[in-house]
Amino acid sequence: MLIAVLSDIHANLEALDAVLGHAREAGVCATYVLGDIVGYGADPQGVLDRLGALENTCLIAGNHDLAAVGRFDSSWFNTAAEDAIRWTAKELDDRGRTALEALEPRDKTPERLLVHGSVVEPITEYVTRSDIAARSFDAEEFSLCFFGHTHMPTVFVRGRKDVRSRKDVEGAVLKDRAPVRLGPGRTMMNPGSVGQPRDGDPRASFLLFDDVERVATLQRVTYDIDTAQRKIRAAGLPDVLADRLALGR
Ligand code: ZN
Repeated sequence: MLIAVLSDIHANLEALDAVLGHAREAGVCATYVLGDIVGYGADPQGVLDRLGALENTCLIAGNHDLAAVGRFDSSWFNTAAEDAIRWTAKELDDRGRTALEALEPRDKTPERLLVHGSVVEPITEYVTRSDIAARSFDAEEFSLCFFGHTHMPTVFVRGRKDVRSRKDVEGAVLKDRAPVRLGPGRTMMNPGSVGQPRDGDPRASFLLFDDVERVATLQRVTYDIDTAQRKIRAAGLPDVLADRLALGR
């Protein structure tokens, strides 16, 4: 089965639509969404409606999703993010609020674990380095974990099950269309961000995962950045949130 793994959509409907169109053409049967569905962008309700209409989805909460419905302290955020949280909270309708209130911070099956931040701190921790990933590998048994939050497409692999040291975790940056075959080791993968990429490539980022062949392939998709920026400015959201979309930073 081919699965689309999406994270950090951040209320960017133009980016989400481009990604979903690409995923449909590829023939995906299921979609995972690793949190931060809203926040920063101008279409929180539109994005929630789009995801709500999909079949076979598993959605979990990110820090922005929880903050938008008062389940997470918004003083944790920088000013632009906090402004966006406040704007988002007002913009959501009852259906959107209910959808965000129902999100869990993680989801686990025998095949995979989904978290927004890390296994240790599912909502807040940024897994940016091998030693941080090592703590997640230590925290719990899983063979495959998908996570988001950093907006950077990355993979961390712990080669041997019986070794517990920070040095046995290897990290790498995922490259567009370069397939990664999962080996016998344990793997943590981040699909990058759909709606606000920060690795210098402004194209929307997500993963296609074939759970039979056990191959994950990063996909970068162009989308209508101008329209997403125009909507952010028209909504009165901070300019920086529009500007950064063109830079991928
Ligand atoms: Zn995010």
